[in-house]
Amino acid sequence: MRRKLISGNWKMNGILAANAALLEGIKAGVGQAKSEIAVCAPAPYLAQCQQLLSDTPIVWGAQDVSEHDAGAYTGEVSATMLTDFGCRFVILGHSERRAYHGESDALVGRKTVRALAHGLTPIVCVGETLEEREAGQTEAVVGRQLDAVLAAVGVAGLANIVVAYEPVWAIGTGKTATPQMAQDVHAFLRARMAEVDAAAAQGVRILYGGSMKPDNAAELLAMSDIDGGLIGGAALKADDFLSIIRAAG
Ligand code: 13P
Repeated sequence: MRRKLISGNWKMNGILAANAALLEGIKAGVGQAKSEIAVCAPAPYLAQCQQLLSDTPIVWGAQDVSEHDAGAYTGEVSATMLTDFGCRFVILGHSERRAYHGESDALVGRKTVRALAHGLTPIVCVGETLEEREAGQTEAVVGRQLDAVLAAVGVAGLANIVVAYEPVWAIGTGKTATPQMAQDVHAFLRARMAEVDAAAAQGVRILYGGSMKPDNAAELLAMSDIDGGLIGGAALKADDFLSIIRAAG
């Protein structure tokens, strides 16, 4: 049985005061959630997460990591720095990084290897644009994105990754994939991983992301291969995030 993972992706939002209110709200309402709960915060606020969440069941993570270990890489943040601030997760290859920062499949693969080497759990994002979906290329695109990561991490790494299917056309748009559309892609991704290691593939959590909200979370999370959510906008309001956590059971 895969334990569900409900993770916020705050993206480039928040300041100290708002984060504190949000985290206190989540802490107050989270109760005995069966799912694993995480928040992925902007790098400057990881220390705040560590301070406010250390004695709670909520874990935290970052939204990117450098492919390098240390050195002359101005502006980059290393995996060692993330673990220094207690991160459990790191989001990698988010479509916003692929689109606005030119991240290639190969780079996402190298970052995934780096994260694993430091004991971080990478949340590897894949997803097609609307144009690609309409051209019938969804499986080709997400398959190519996943293959690059599988090739980089090898059989040994597969069991330690989380995958997030985030159709680009559903991110921040209010348009959600139907549960069946998402399930079909999740099943495809799991089958692809099973070609590498069938047993490991059964254990890998595949999250859905893209306008997941309190009113659609339950039906998405009920699908057999949807093992959680990666939540943007709705993770910025404690009540909405808590509703999604409850929808996960
Ligand atoms: P929204 O939930 O705001 O659509 O964002 C999804 C996302 O990109 C999570 O990584």
